[in-house]
Amino acid sequence: MQCFSLFRRIQPQPSSTILDTPPVQSELSKLNKPRYERSRYHVWCLLGVFVLCFLGLLLLANTENIPGNGEVDYIYRLSYLEDVDARLAVEDVVSRSEEFNQTNERSLNFGLSESVYWVWVKMLPTGIDSQALRLELGYPHLDYLDVYSLINNVPALTYQLGDMVSFGGRPVKDRTFVLPVKVQPDGQPVDFLFRVQSKGSIQLPVHVSTETQYQLGDRDEQLVLGFYYGILLGVLAYNLLLAFGTREPVYGYYCAYAVFLTLFQFSQNGLAFEYLWQKNTHWHQLSIPFFASMALLFCTRFTQVFLNLTRKNSPGLYWAYQLVVGMFAALALATFVADRSLIITLVSIAVSLAGVFMISTSYYLYLKGDDNAFYYLLAWTILLFGIVIYATKTLGLVPESFITEYSVQIGSAIEMILLSYALADRFNRLRDENIRVQAEAKAGLETRVEQRTRELQQALIQFEAANDQLASLSQRDPMTGLYNRRYFNEVFEKMRSKMARQSKPLSLMMIDIDHFKSINDTRGHLIGDQVICDVAGIVESAMACEECVPVRFGGEEFVALLPGYSHEDALAMAEALRESVESVRFRSSSKVAGTNSISDGMNVSGNAFTTSVSIGVTVELPAEVSGQTGLKLLEQADQALYAAKESGRNRCVLYQPG
Ligand code: GH3
Ligand code: MG
Ligand code: MG
Repeated sequence: MQCFSLFRRIQPQPSSTILDTPPVQSELSKLNKPRYERSRYHVWCLLGVFVLCFLGLLLLANTENIPGNGEVDYIYRLSYLEDVDARLAVEDVVSRSEEFNQTNERSLNFGLSESVYWVWVKMLPTGIDSQALRLELGYPHLDYLDVYSLINNVPALTYQLGDMVSFGGRPVKDRTFVLPVKVQPDGQPVDFLFRVQSKGSIQLPVHVSTETQYQLGDRDEQLVLGFYYGILLGVLAYNLLLAFGTREPVYGYYCAYAVFLTLFQFSQNGLAFEYLWQKNTHWHQLSIPFFASMALLFCTRFTQVFLNLTRKNSPGLYWAYQLVVGMFAALALATFVADRSLIITLVSIAVSLAGVFMISTSYYLYLKGDDNAFYYLLAWTILLFGIVIYATKTLGLVPESFITEYSVQIGSAIEMILLSYALADRFNRLRDENIRVQAEAKAGLETRVEQRTRELQQALIQFEAANDQLASLSQRDPMTGLYNRRYFNEVFEKMRSKMARQSKPLSLMMIDIDHFKSINDTRGHLIGDQVICDVAGIVESAMACEECVPVRFGGEEFVALLPGYSHEDALAMAEALRESVESVRFRSSSKVAGTNSISDGMNVSGNAFTTSVSIGVTVELPAEVSGQTGLKLLEQADQALYAAKESGRNRCVLYQPG
């Protein structure tokens, strides 16, 4: 019983296995069919939409011109002179007006140069009633821009501008250089002579427009830039929350990238100088290469973490990225000490190389089947697309328009949004992966638990069987298979009490094989053993009731407990038993001398022989139970057996008191 209760206790609870298993399996099968296929399909659609939008807008670009484009050109002649040694004074320059190179371009680009450039803007005559004009130099990073007014070829220094000069001296507060055009009483606008010197790239997009046109253009530009910075800050705020919420480094790197990209752009288009550090010209010079280096540093680190390029996964790429990160850190620091034009050159080269490197890496990983790399690649492709459009506009391959003018900003805003989406997708991917691993672990664990439980169950069943066998062995006589004396002792008193309770008699037989010694002596002990076993079998089959207990009492003696048997019934059973034994012909392998003679009660015939038993019978009535012990009953049976032996053996005798 103990075994059973133990078994039940450790049996697996159905709730823990049977109920849980199907969801785990369904979850697994769901996860094994990845959602990546679907998301890729979605993103291809998204990409298609982007491309269509861009193409559509490009087509529109032919008709939708930016303000000022296609309007009256107020410039009569634009010409420039390169002063390689930077030695010429303004008077020398004016006197060498014939040495000036005339150009039809309205956007001059001298690149990186140590030279001083003199640019002469000769205006067309306008009517005296004409609106006020504005001349705009659209590149805000010129270090020094001296503006001379020329009246009758006499120069007068009007403004000293440039981003090495405090912002406060500008006639119009604008991120670019905007100058009011003075008109002489005869309607002839005053010409401009610019002296330009800069350590960065020297570009002069010259544009003259009316006050109204300028205002409209400025308004559009503010709107676009407002949108652009709005998107950057929105994406930044969103990811900042995620960075704090998840404490995932990848969000942190993304945010740092977004911060420095925003600052770089803010500085790059001159707004930072206008709004943040008007007087700090030195810092303004450093800020652009510094922010560019920092943005690329965090962008590289972000890429490295995002694409999971760890030391373990792909050591080669990991170290390459570490190198690039280190390079940008060094460039950021060098900004404060090294020569500015050198730094600008180095940063420009590094940015281009790093961009190509990161795009190549993500493309390589994507080809290798890394789905993470897909969104990353897509984001950069959009930005590249924007840059290409801007470049084609600069080269004059596509007309200047709102879209082409701001294509880099648009591409960069879409890039930031897509990268943010890529981060969300990466999060989903990791979460799915996590669930899958957990489900697998759970399924594995459950299988193991089931297996162990089955093994344990089997062991318990075996243990139980062994226990039963052991219990049965301890109750049985090994030679005959009858109950042994120990079992008799166990049940004898219980049976007496039970019969007393049920008011039934209990009979007891004591059986002894007659002249057994002579069987041993003449046929050997093995045959003697066989005879004991055969007689035991006869005793057992003589038991007419289930409750009867046949016992090998010792040697060639047997006892049988016959519950509920009266002395008549017991005597009848004993008699039947005696007759059975008497009728059996035993067989031994060798003949015994003196065949066919009756010796010691053995009826011998060749190698066959018979034997007999004497049986003493006694009965205990319910009333007698309390007055005597079990031993007494045994003694009575023994006395009856003795009487049977005495009176000639092979008979049954009922105990007679007194
Ligand atoms: P009686 O008719 O008076 O009972 O004569 P007996 O020869 O049966 O006398 P007794 O009871 O004294 O002898 C029993 C013999 O049974 C003695 C012993 O050697 C033998 N014996 C006891 N146990 C075994 C056994 O397991 N196997 C064999 N072969 N002989 C046994
Ligand atoms: Mg005996
Ligand atoms: Mg005997």
